[in-house]
Amino acid sequence: MPFDLAVIDLDNTLYAADSNVFARMDERMTAFVARELNIASTEANALRINYWKEYGTTLRGLMLHHGMEPEAFLHEVHDISVHEILVPDIELDQALAHLPCRKVIHTNGIREHAIRVLEALDVAHHFAAIYDIRFNHYQPKPSSATLSALVKLEGAVPHRTVVIDDMEDNLAAARAIGAQTALISTRTPVRQWDFHATSLPLLIHLGGIVNHSGCIGAAESGIMR
Ligand SMILES: [Mg+2]
Repeated sequence: MPFDLAVIDLDNTLYAADSNVFARMDERMTAFVARELNIASTEANALRINYWKEYGTTLRGLMLHHGMEPEAFLHEVHDISVHEILVPDIELDQALAHLPCRKVIHTNGIREHAIRVLEALDVAHHFAAIYDIRFNHYQPKPSSATLSALVKLEGAVPHRTVVIDDMEDNLAAARAIGAQTALISTRTPVRQWDFHATSLPLLIHLGGIVNHSGCIGAAESGIMR
């Protein structure tokens, strides 16, 4: 089944999870939570992780339990020097060029951060749209409702959509609405997904790509299934 739409995560999916971008954001989140809630750093770090696990993002927990206004948090957390960490990725650029379907970013971060990452990697030109945390009233992944709204807005249908993400919870939401799922991870998956590779270029190159009407040709795929 070819795909008309690829919904691609940003952080730890377009670039390697060990690249330190997320670690910098985690540090800033913990500092923000400690300052705003006037709690110790260790407590703030635990709260950050608990909310992230419970709600998909730390921000969601802060909004629900502390009435936090989102934008100050989002700007402060994402204020990292991405260009110091990420460099143009020719392999990724070439791989994305082999996906002829419409490609959009769906991130629990903010658009401004997504643009900085895409420009640092030099792959921004591949993406038709960016759906950030503000989409669907700050309802983050792994919300099936948010993903459904995105697919609908794109004029696509779930069974001709592939969701590519490094988080299995996000893929579970994709599967729940009938989309195809592709995991980018170096760890052993907890569940089995339609596709799995350790990087996005490998996913695309081993995915048997492409026929003229869509992107990854699932039927021809030789990728880990
Ligand atoms: Mg991610």
